[in-house]
Amino acid sequence: MAYKVVVVGVNHAGTSAIRTLLAQDPDHEVVAFDRNNNISFLGCGIALSVSGVVKDVNDLFYSDLADLQSYGADVHMNTDVYRIDTKKKIVYARNLESGQEYEETYDKLIYAAGSWPVEFKVNNGDLENIHICKLYQHAQELIKKASDPEIKSVAVIGAGYIGMELAEAYYLKGKKVTLVDLQERVVPLYFDQEFTDRLQNDIREAGVNLLLGARLTGYKGDKDGKVKQIVTDKGSYEADLVIQCVGFKPNTELLEKADKLPNGALKVDAKMLTSIPDIYAIGDTVAMYHAAADKHCHVALATNAVKGGVVAASQINGVEQVKLESIAGTNAICVFDNMLASTGMSEMAAKANGYNVSTSFYADNDRPEFMNEVEKVGIKLVYEKDSLRLLGAQIGSYGKTPHTEAIFYLSLAIQKKMNLFELAMTDVYFLPHFNKPFNFVISAILQALGLHYMKKQ
Ligand SMILES: Cc1cc2nc3c(=O)[nH]c(=O)nc-3n(C[C@H](O)[C@H](O)[C@H](O)COP(=O)(O)OP(=O)(O)OC[C@H]3O[C@@H](n4cnc5c(N)ncnc54)[C@H](O)[C@@H]3O)c2cc1C
Repeated sequence: MAYKVVVVGVNHAGTSAIRTLLAQDPDHEVVAFDRNNNISFLGCGIALSVSGVVKDVNDLFYSDLADLQSYGADVHMNTDVYRIDTKKKIVYARNLESGQEYEETYDKLIYAAGSWPVEFKVNNGDLENIHICKLYQHAQELIKKASDPEIKSVAVIGAGYIGMELAEAYYLKGKKVTLVDLQERVVPLYFDQEFTDRLQNDIREAGVNLLLGARLTGYKGDKDGKVKQIVTDKGSYEADLVIQCVGFKPNTELLEKADKLPNGALKVDAKMLTSIPDIYAIGDTVAMYHAAADKHCHVALATNAVKGGVVAASQINGVEQVKLESIAGTNAICVFDNMLASTGMSEMAAKANGYNVSTSFYADNDRPEFMNEVEKVGIKLVYEKDSLRLLGAQIGSYGKTPHTEAIFYLSLAIQKKMNLFELAMTDVYFLPHFNKPFNFVISAILQALGLHYMKKQ
């Protein structure tokens, strides 16, 4: 059945939804709005462009207006949606350049307005050279400043994965870098101390000033109004450039009456439907059911955004088997020679969520020692003490061979709520070029169950 579908926001989630919807059924009338002037910019490449790994930042796009028009969508860029009447099913938008007004009715609405970096108020926050990091426009500024000889020192506020990537990128460009976080450890909700100790050490050994447990209170500038220092409760540090990376807030003000988490993320079901009839929400705007935490959580990642687009579009097209029943928050970080991946909850996050947990940490060489080259790998499993249900897993891979993708089957195990006995006999391969007969994942499970005779920790 063909519908009139209005899409609000055309970046990763919106693009995925539009392409899927019209590829499956070109008869829909699709009208889409985005307030930005570009489509599909991959923010994951910003740090890689700053450091010079990516030579041309324009390579970080995979779609554009012409692409979406070729599917049959009527896409309006530079056009802000300022009101949605959910009773009359009308979207109101205005072109930010020409002022042209739009009033579009819809049968189905796909809400993909994404998120925006949290901007916080501190003293002198309006000085020059203080930035946030998300859009192509931000990337252009951050790349230009990486090669500016007047920018000698850089402060990154927030040691999440984006902050750490930027800290490494500017360090590789020869800048003096300070990385600040309020928490006592980097990425504590995703990785426990077994991994963050080594990572923090490697960051510091590289010469980055990693300042943990420190609260930013403001900035100091020069007479030209440019930032020169960050001020924290643990002292002041030089900074000719500051990037604030302290998380993302979902853009959901337009759907005032929908069910939301306290941070504004829209609660959706497995079909990506919100609590308002005929309104689907996808991407960074939503909170999905998190299989480890057993509640709705906001996990702002591109992986969830593009899958959400496929699900919402398929549901509109009546392909009802395509659902996103749960997420597990699977993520990866690759900085300062630490290749890390995690899924579910860290031990700290699980305890904070009220779970009674046990853990199993196992570190080993990845291949048999008779091979010429072996590399270090470590894994930590977090599981419910009584039921042995897997709640989280973290993998650290140190060398040339990334072993992080083993996290994929552990995330499926979390989504399927499997316990360690069910996982212990997974049929994994063994080949000396790649791993050991008891590979590191199985070893960690057997160790947790008290069944491992291969190695005493
Ligand atoms: C630096 C950086 C690195 C990242 N790295 C990774 C990574 O390695 N792996 C990963 O999985 N994820 C990564 N992410 C996260 C990923 O980019 C986001 O999850 C993804 O952008 C979400 O896509 P989205 O389409 O839901 O939202 P957004 O990308 O936020 O897009 C929303 C769109 O809606 C538009 N919009 C908003 N409000 C309105 C309105 N009222 N009217 C009209 N248009 C509107 C916006 O202009 C925007 O184009 C990274 C993010 C950043 C910033």
